Amino acid sequence: MSRPYTIVLGPHHFAVLSNDNHTARLIREGKYGETDMDSLCIYIRDDIPASLWDETLCHEVIHAALAVSGLNHQLDDEERIAATLSPYIAQALLTPWLPTS
Ligand SMILES: [Zn+2]
Repeated sequence: MSRPYTIVLGPHHFAVLSNDNHTARLIREGKYGETDMDSLCIYIRDDIPASLWDETLCHEVIHAALAVSGLNHQLDDEERIAATLSPYIAQALLTPWLPTS
């Protein structure tokens, strides 16, 4: 999957930032990624394997979608939902399309 610079969710354009400054902070905080709704930024470490980067992006997009939709206020287990669904969404997006015949 090529790495996007922007993800559009509803009316919002989230910047996807993956660079040394954010990576150092995320490592200190023990995270692979983070979504900041105040700035509409998704931060992802740039030192992780490509498949983990892709899954982390899906994980953060789930958080962002839950926040944009307002569902995050109704969930007690948002982190578990994002962690459970993100590998499958990443797999669906990364699996090459198979010929139908
Ligand atoms: Zn999370």
